[in-house]
Amino acid sequence: MFQRPDPAMLTVQQLCVRYGEIEVVKGVALSVAKGAIVALLGANGAGKSSTMHGLVGLVPATGEIVLAGQSIAKATPEDISRLGIALVPEGRRVFPSLTVAENLLLGGAVHTRRHDTQAAEEKLLRRFPILRERYRQKAGLLSGGEQQMLAIARALMSGPKLLLLDEPSLGLAPQVVDSVFDLIAELRTEGLTILLVEQNAARALEIADYGYVLVNGKIEIEGSGAELASSERVREAYLAA
Ligand code: ATP
Repeated sequence: MFQRPDPAMLTVQQLCVRYGEIEVVKGVALSVAKGAIVALLGANGAGKSSTMHGLVGLVPATGEIVLAGQSIAKATPEDISRLGIALVPEGRRVFPSLTVAENLLLGGAVHTRRHDTQAAEEKLLRRFPILRERYRQKAGLLSGGEQQMLAIARALMSGPKLLLLDEPSLGLAPQVVDSVFDLIAELRTEGLTILLVEQNAARALEIADYGYVLVNGKIEIEGSGAELASSERVREAYLAA
């Protein structure tokens, strides 16, 4: 039977995350088209990180999560990683006492063949020459920008279809922020699909194809990047200089 291809890389419906008695993600629905950058915006504590963590199984969540046509709502974090989602967590969480090489190796744990791990690593070392220079150094000795590059490179080691980026520009110098945003846009041109959580809403909307605004655990506003950037409500709440 003919089946129409699903144009969405990720479709989420009725996603709820609770910590004990407190529900912090309350029935979120969102969709990420293949090859798009979708921004998830919202104030501190709105539930952005919890949404991301729910998607990759790091916190218990209910709801429907479909990745490239396949339901992953009940999958383990390891399965989700194998199926093609990689998360770059907030705060550049590299393993500081491990070397750059070891951090990359951990990101490539989904590969069953050594050759695939090596090929993924070589591709990333070509993209991030600084990581080749620092290959044997402890990750904790890298600068903030270098650690963020390592955190992204580690996530890319698994060859994901969908990259979740949680506040990738937080705490970085302006020049480094520029290179992080350039990298995100470049990854899209290579076909990667990206869900981006950003404090820097203005920058996020410059590169986002579509965006959602989360308010107190619920999606309150959605639209194209340009629509959100020109929306009075979004401007007042998130784009005030
Ligand atoms: P931020 O930008 O500050 O990280 P956020 O939009 O990502 O904000 P979350 O980190 O998802 O928001 O937090 C949503 C709510 O859930 C907040 O009230 C937060 O205090 C709470 N919360 C987050 N993690 C936990 C946890 N492990 N246990 C209990 N409450 C939590």
